[in-house]
Amino acid sequence: SAPVLELKNVAKTYRVKQGLFGKAKPLTAVNDVSLTLGRGEVLGLVGESGCGKSTLAKILLGLEAPTSGKVLVDGEEIGGQNRLALARRIQPIFQDPYSSLNPRKTIADIVSLPLRVHGIGDAASRAKSVRETLELVGLPARVLNTYPSQMSGGQRQRVAIARALIMRPEIVICDEPTSALDVSVQSQILNLLNDLREEFGLTYLFISHDLAVVEHLATRVAVMYLGRIVEEAPVGGLFDAPRHPYARALLNSVLTPDPSLGVPDTQLGAAYPNPIAPPSGCHFHPRCPFAEDECKAKAPRAVERDGGLVECHLHDPDSKMYRPDFTV
Ligand code: SF4
Ligand code: MG
Repeated sequence: SAPVLELKNVAKTYRVKQGLFGKAKPLTAVNDVSLTLGRGEVLGLVGESGCGKSTLAKILLGLEAPTSGKVLVDGEEIGGQNRLALARRIQPIFQDPYSSLNPRKTIADIVSLPLRVHGIGDAASRAKSVRETLELVGLPARVLNTYPSQMSGGQRQRVAIARALIMRPEIVICDEPTSALDVSVQSQILNLLNDLREEFGLTYLFISHDLAVVEHLATRVAVMYLGRIVEEAPVGGLFDAPRHPYARALLNSVLTPDPSLGVPDTQLGAAYPNPIAPPSGCHFHPRCPFAEDECKAKAPRAVERDGGLVECHLHDPDSKMYRPDFTV
């Protein structure tokens, strides 16, 4: 099917000052990212804090303009005049429902706000839409006139989901939607998101540092490191046979290492690099147990592997480091 969401060479560079008298330096938060999502797909976007995941989410929501590159929804570019129209089709669910819900507004006001912003319907039809949407997310009508502070964390996240869903979006950007919740509540919310996806044919970009969550929900996974997608693959492939050493390091940080693999264990001993002064060549080389001189000298290009993409010399047939059967 035609892609619902396409990112073409999207980049975002900020100028940041270090110290009081420091000169402003460029910080590339998102570096030449290209991604394609088909209808009903769930792309898990994983990476450490500061890798550019949230900046990418803001670009997709129209909250930040990319420095270069394009974002297309159903083949139409987001930007300029149609920004608002396309924004209706992409709705967010954020990590902390408490800070993203206005504490002074009732649940009815919060959930109906997107309709009012976009001038959709009259008061009666909006009220009906709010009641229907609350029901979809499993909230009773009696919450309509209550305030966020009167609800549990899980209920608040249901409100945030209702607010996103009331626009009948095609794409939902879920930025760590369960990270602030108790473990017992997390699975309820994940199940709800999955049910809603099936019912409405929604496409999700699911940003998370929690690989267990991603494995449960995603159809594809993109691994982000210093603003770049270093590996993108179907979810099974990534979890069974990660190609990029960084993807493996991420998996190892949650899974029990398997000594039978007979390969050096990737320990992310070195700190996450400063994005203002990224390491030369492959940005991952200071932390990579497989790094050689070529990694410091030359940035790896993206090569296709098993229905996915990976940026690592070990997978590039043109590199001296090429190891055709390399999986870490
Ligand atoms: Fe490691 Fe080199 Fe591959 Fe980068 S290109 S991930 S440093 S082996
Ligand atoms: Mg973030």
